[in-house]
Amino acid sequence: MIQKTILKVENLFVSYGAIQAIKGISFEIQKGEIVSLIGANGAGKTSTLRAISGIVESQGNIILNDINLGSIPTHERVKHGLAQSPEGRGIFPQMTVKENLELGSYSRSDKEQIEKDLNYCFKLFPRLKERLSQFAGTLSGGEQQMLSISRAIMCKPELLLLDEPSLGLAPIIVSQIFDIIKNLNASGMTVLLVEQNAKQALSISDRAYVLETGKITLTGKGKELLNNDDVRKSYLGV
Ligand code: ATP
Repeated sequence: MIQKTILKVENLFVSYGAIQAIKGISFEIQKGEIVSLIGANGAGKTSTLRAISGIVESQGNIILNDINLGSIPTHERVKHGLAQSPEGRGIFPQMTVKENLELGSYSRSDKEQIEKDLNYCFKLFPRLKERLSQFAGTLSGGEQQMLSISRAIMCKPELLLLDEPSLGLAPIIVSQIFDIIKNLNASGMTVLLVEQNAKQALSISDRAYVLETGKITLTGKGKELLNNDDVRKSYLGV
């Protein structure tokens, strides 16, 4: 199979004042892959995603489909095929579920396809359809996560950035979320997943990178890393 690189990150640095959160990392994602970034608290996972979506300043190259995103502002990056479902969910609590979903598709003009994508989200998360007119802030944690992922889907991204989609969710919902990530990927979406839940993340990932204090220390196939002794000791608690 011919592989096509969708994202290439080269020598990325992110600093917050004197704190250097990311110290020159490089990695690639091929079209159609699920790739995970795993690591302990503060390793720099969120900072990496924020740099890719342009929420924080960074040095180095971030190349999406052969376009260097360096000078492209965050909102324009969506038009280049990027969407992020942020940690902490990033939904608008005073707006309804419907309004939050409409925000996801605001830069699109393909009305018919928007309708289809909306129905796809309702198929993934029937709960959202039942709660369309409810204020997003009144949803449960799991429902807010569903909304955050759906809003990102409504951007129709080629590359979906998911930051801790399982954070704070009940185990049964966590498994559902991971199944849905697999479904999204099977429908053609490339996924970059940041997770503390290393076991679940690695088991659905084609490949993964381990981040330690701002540097990549290990990379490999998801299933290989699941069996790697260092990974097992440090991140899987076995
Ligand atoms: P977690 O799993 O705990 O969310 P993470 O791997 O996503 O961690 P980051 O949130 O990227 O890690 O943080 C990397 C480092 O940068 C940490 O030391 C953190 O304290 C620091 N950091 C992150 N955001 C800021 C900020 N806005 N101001 C100052 N330091 C920050």
